[in-house]
Amino acid sequence: MRLLIPGGAGYIGSHMVKYVQELGHEAVVLDDFSTGHEWAINDCEILRVNLLDQDTLAQLLKGRSFDGVIHFAAKSLVGESVQKPDLYYRNNVVGTLNLVNEMITNDIHNLVFSSTAAIFGNPVTEKIAEDHPKNPINPYGQSKLMAENMLRDICAVHDINATCFRYFNAAGADRSGSLGEAHDPETHLIPNILKSTIPGGSVLKVFGTDYETHDGTCVRDYVHVTDLAEAHFLALEYMKDNSGFSAFNLGNGSGFSVLDVIRSCERAVKKMIPFDPAMRRVGDPPVLVADSSAAICKISWEPKFGSLDAITQSAWRWHEHSGG
Ligand code: UDP
Repeated sequence: MRLLIPGGAGYIGSHMVKYVQELGHEAVVLDDFSTGHEWAINDCEILRVNLLDQDTLAQLLKGRSFDGVIHFAAKSLVGESVQKPDLYYRNNVVGTLNLVNEMITNDIHNLVFSSTAAIFGNPVTEKIAEDHPKNPINPYGQSKLMAENMLRDICAVHDINATCFRYFNAAGADRSGSLGEAHDPETHLIPNILKSTIPGGSVLKVFGTDYETHDGTCVRDYVHVTDLAEAHFLALEYMKDNSGFSAFNLGNGSGFSVLDVIRSCERAVKKMIPFDPAMRRVGDPPVLVADSSAAICKISWEPKFGSLDAITQSAWRWHEHSGG
């Protein structure tokens, strides 16, 4: 297959590129490199363009055929989305619309869309299944929900199939140790814990120690980035027999607190990791855990990294390799 991967130079996108290449498929990366890295992708054609640049996008995709589009290109920081909502709606909603317009123009039929658990807002059930109410509490979640709704409407009238995946907490790194998470600034928990262990690294802050959880810190569902890549690939198969719009939640179904994750990283790094309790971060729900039974049952997803220790060990291998 030949697959177009917008956002393929980013964290999850670059693992996706490697995943499909290892299966012998061709990946064409479309990226503006605003947050992605050229070192993260190898042996593939690169289309350097921002999805908001409609003219260049149209020129680059004109007459090209792809078996599928796996779309990761987006802004994804909750805090930034509160400060710059216009940036988020433009990039995540208008950018996706521009991409879908080119798919329609060029007869490209299958889209896998990177969505987020942030579309659900504060949970009202212990685990979050697909039918959980969708009340995003920040512009990032809102922009992804708007894009999902837009895709649903477009699939109803055009010959386009779309599968949306709402990820919980993407984490970990490729088994080679040569590819992993590298955001600037880094806001995510596991890389921040690991970076704090490197000499000269700043002390880890734990945002909120008075939540109503087993140890007072926020509980999240960590899912390995290669398991996410597998789900995206399986969606292409799923859409062969299931046309139109679908959406699935992707997590491991187990919640771990910030302190649980620190303990797991201590086992990976083999030393104590000190931390400072800090104020709660605005917009952090206390608990977010996925019910992924629909993805497991309908797209035959089989996550391989069920244990938190396997996830943190893979992240540590990458941090050691990359020098933090
Ligand atoms: N967190 C923390 N210290 C950090 C980064 C994150 O205590 O340096 C907490 C954060 O408040 C949240 C959890 O770790 O409760 C996971 O945060 P992350 O940013 O990794 O993912 P999110 O759940 O926000 O998508």
